[in-house]
Amino acid sequence: MKKKIDINHRQVEYTLRRSKRARRMRLTVYCDGNFVVTVPRGMNEGLIERFISAKSRWIIDKLEYFKKFPGLARPKSSKKEFLERKGEAMHIVKARIEHFNALYGFAFNAIHIRNQKTRWGSCSRRGNLSFNYKIVLLPPHLRDLVIVHELCHLEEFNHSRDFWHLVARAIPDYRKARRELKQNRIL
Ligand SMILES: [Zn+2]
Repeated sequence: MKKKIDINHRQVEYTLRRSKRARRMRLTVYCDGNFVVTVPRGMNEGLIERFISAKSRWIIDKLEYFKKFPGLARPKSSKKEFLERKGEAMHIVKARIEHFNALYGFAFNAIHIRNQKTRWGSCSRRGNLSFNYKIVLLPPHLRDLVIVHELCHLEEFNHSRDFWHLVARAIPDYRKARRELKQNRIL
């Protein structure tokens, strides 16, 4: 059921779902700006609205975030899109590798841009770095995380503590960025 509520002097539309299985109220803001409130059956509207109001800050932040990065909400990619954006991806990746490798100074072999379904990047034992072309759709700070991650695999071929120490040299708050990257739904 579509509903409207005033949050911080702003009319926000949401979808109310009453679920037999829901034990408690749950708010979800999707990357396309859809805002869904799931509640146990029979919960009264006043309680629902108070719950939403209590979370208003979080809701507005999410809505604003997805508005700022509309690339996060999009249909699945096509071969055509890959061919169109491959060059742009390569350009960005090369520039950022150059930027970060001024700090690390790692040796690598080749850079590839690929159309992968499930991963942002990879690094081979022979020093080849591969990146998903969809990196162009990410906000710059998340793009950087993907690039630094693969770059650091040139030195540490695992996800050990030493590996993350290396990542942290370029991106001190990489934990926050990792969480954010996991939450987006491009891949
Ligand atoms: Zn890795």
